[in-house]
Amino acid sequence: MTYPWREAPEGTFAVIGDPVHHSLSPKMHSAAYATLGLPYTYYGIHVPTGEVGEALERLSSLGYQGINVTVPHKEEALNWADVVEPMAARVRAANTLRLKDRACINTDAPGFLDTLGEFHPTEKKVLLVGAGGSARALIVALLSDGYSIKLTNRTLEKAHSLAEELGSNQLSVSESADPDGCALILNTTSASLNKEELPIQWDRAMPGALAYDLMYARPTTPFLAKAFSLGLATMDGLPLLVAQGARSFEWWLGIEAPRTAMREALQ
Ligand code: NDP
Repeated sequence: MTYPWREAPEGTFAVIGDPVHHSLSPKMHSAAYATLGLPYTYYGIHVPTGEVGEALERLSSLGYQGINVTVPHKEEALNWADVVEPMAARVRAANTLRLKDRACINTDAPGFLDTLGEFHPTEKKVLLVGAGGSARALIVALLSDGYSIKLTNRTLEKAHSLAEELGSNQLSVSESADPDGCALILNTTSASLNKEELPIQWDRAMPGALAYDLMYARPTTPFLAKAFSLGLATMDGLPLLVAQGARSFEWWLGIEAPRTAMREALQ
């Protein structure tokens, strides 16, 4: 169920974004509450840019305890918070808020590492495409886990300024999307939204490399379709959606999230 924030009903949890109608989070969190018999609600709430603070005050007065934040509000949400965990500060994005004490965390970055749990590359080297908010979070996570990163983006200056801002000798910018030597090929762009292909030099991909798209689409995204046709391993954005959502759930409620039920609700 999705509402404009001025028409939001009383509730306990929600995701805010613009747009938000496509979000699978309400389905996933509602399934978690049903599985555990918890009397909570989780709605999608549409909030235009510039109205995040006002909307959060209203949701707080309606009894909401926790809010997930999606595109494009993660930075505005961070600025609203009084208590900011170090990871959220470092990636300059908050995707999980606790309203009673205006606290925030970022669960995208650690959730992303959760999804790589079964992935044990011989060499921790990544080609990362994109230089937006998700790219920043994932770069911080990957660097903390010992990966070296080759970063490329449609607008190359943005890749350069992101690399400069994050300042690491394990992070370099490349003009071309050349996956040579990379065990992981990571698409953090929104290109798949419009079914657009990325100029990746697929013929230079290592056999056995994992192609990972942050987006999810049925039946698949152009990026993953191409990787699959070349025999590469593939992963879409659903495991990350579950991992970050489960971490939000656990931070709010202090109990283990029913990950299997959350995943099944999305399938
Ligand atoms: P931003 O808007 O901050 O960044 C978008 C990036 O995509 C930029 O680097 C932009 O390049 C690039 N881009 C957009 N369109 C194209 C195109 N047609 N060809 C090449 N590059 C393109 O978005 P975010 O980083 O916040 O999010 C990126 C995607 O990841 C979103 O679609 C989001 O839904 C998804 N996501 C999924 C999550 C999950 O749980 N699965 C979690 C977080 C994000 P340029 O700089 O040139 O404009």
